[in-house]
Amino acid sequence: MTTRIVIGHTNPDTDSIGSAILFAQFETALGRPTEAKSLGELNAETRYVLERFGIDAPGIITSVAGYDEVFIVDHTEKSQAPADLRPDQIAGIVDHHKLGDLQSSKPIFAVFSPVGSTATILVELFASEGIEMSDALKGLALSCILSDTVILKSPTTTDTDRAVVERLSRELGIDPVELGKEQFAAKADFSAKMPSEVIGIDMKPYSMGGKTFAIAQVEVPDVSIVMEAKAAYLEAMRAACEANSYGSFVLLVTDIIREGSEVLVFGMEDEVGAALGVDIVEHSGFVPGLMSRKKQVVPPLEAHFG
Ligand code: MG
Ligand code: MG
Ligand code: MG
Repeated sequence: MTTRIVIGHTNPDTDSIGSAILFAQFETALGRPTEAKSLGELNAETRYVLERFGIDAPGIITSVAGYDEVFIVDHTEKSQAPADLRPDQIAGIVDHHKLGDLQSSKPIFAVFSPVGSTATILVELFASEGIEMSDALKGLALSCILSDTVILKSPTTTDTDRAVVERLSRELGIDPVELGKEQFAAKADFSAKMPSEVIGIDMKPYSMGGKTFAIAQVEVPDVSIVMEAKAAYLEAMRAACEANSYGSFVLLVTDIIREGSEVLVFGMEDEVGAALGVDIVEHSGFVPGLMSRKKQVVPPLEAHFG
């Protein structure tokens, strides 16, 4: 029997896990049994969302050895995939990021769209195939979109995302802003976490100009949650750079109420600040309107360093 799985990226976020579950259900509904897997522990937001909608957490794997077909959601980067993933295993991709460096050895099913979340694309795939989504899957998709678009405030938000959120929340009788606030509150509960853990919750490594940049983002109702412990955060970022040979660690502390981000930088502070157009003073600077890593941070850094 062919074994088929869907995986998102390492250090999974809610869209990555939710979209893996949605894609697996989509394939299974079309008569191709497929299972979602997670490439790591779920973050607090994802756990909250799965519990709220009564969905089982996917099993965690670190290797894809033994699986015949692997579907990828929410990225196309080797650096965010299992180390042993082979081109001949890749059977499909659904994503909303820039095209990365993953390769397939055969023609594959692939859907890319510059929308706010991978889940948005999957909701449209369900609709195009005429497959009914359960309320649990609708809630999951809704949470994925709210997570990735920071409750529709990120500049990555498109009219398609807004229309899907409007439809799903109406069908479920859920206020999307309330749901969004609740899931971000779960994500921003750092009380039991060390700064070294917080900076790893949503960190992605990017190779640019021969260096590795660690770019992490946390969304919070008030940046003081992090800024009151700024020295401890910078020390955690310094240690991460030393342990992993990062050229720079950039932490975006995104204030979902003020709609902007405090940018903390350890390593190449002046150059990173120049690339992002912000004065970095004592390793930090506030950028009004900065909500999106992939749209407002990665492209200017790649233009500057790549
Ligand atoms: Mg993601
Ligand atoms: Mg995503
Ligand atoms: Mg995100």
